[in-house]
Amino acid sequence: MLVTIDGIVIGRRPIGENNCFIDVLTDEYGVIEVTAHGIRKINSKNSGACSLFAYSRFCLAKNGLKYTLNSAEPKFSFHGISADIEALSLATYFAEIFKATTAPEQEAAGFLRLMAISLFEIEKRRINLPQIKAVFELRIASMLGFSPDLRACRNCICYEHELMYFDFGNSTIICADCVGENAELYTELTPTLLYSMRYIVYSPVEKIFHFNLKTGILIQLEQFCEKYLLQHLDREFRSLDYYKSIKI
Ligand SMILES: [Zn+2]
Repeated sequence: MLVTIDGIVIGRRPIGENNCFIDVLTDEYGVIEVTAHGIRKINSKNSGACSLFAYSRFCLAKNGLKYTLNSAEPKFSFHGISADIEALSLATYFAEIFKATTAPEQEAAGFLRLMAISLFEIEKRRINLPQIKAVFELRIASMLGFSPDLRACRNCICYEHELMYFDFGNSTIICADCVGENAELYTELTPTLLYSMRYIVYSPVEKIFHFNLKTGILIQLEQFCEKYLLQHLDREFRSLDYYKSIKI
């Protein structure tokens, strides 16, 4: 049967001279592998819509779990990303996260939108790449079902405190008054850091990148978000190692 779906190309592997497997992130079917005949030919009408990180509408022949490209129309392409190795490596890390966490044929509502917004920010650079990375990591962790509970101190239910702590053991926060002698077991959260984390987790996805942080807080946020995501996924990413190795 023929299906028409929107998706973002998050991976490409050549087959022979002219053909490719493309990995497409979709809301309806998760990440699917599509056989795309002829798209490496110079005159292929589908090559642009099937390029890496293109956001396109795909018409696919679906046969069980196998998909073959019929045609594709580009909706949006993020050309600028491929021209910058640091931007490209960050986008590749995001793609690897989706490939590792999204099963084929499983609905993944909201992931396509998050990836599209993240690629847009990587290309536009209204905020710097380390902040885009941190925001993405914490938000995708939440969307994958690992949302931290940042609402209030787990003991006295206070919302604000001059110093809160994060418990990586059960993803909750506890204030300085309630933490007692166990403070060294937890991670300190200043009010600005906690505010940023709440903003990332609880805001509508369209707004998550709309804030700026000073360098000191950004470093703390970066460390927190990367540790949080990797702890929950319990794995390493080669693309992340590469991103860090070339980071200026
Ligand atoms: Zn408390």
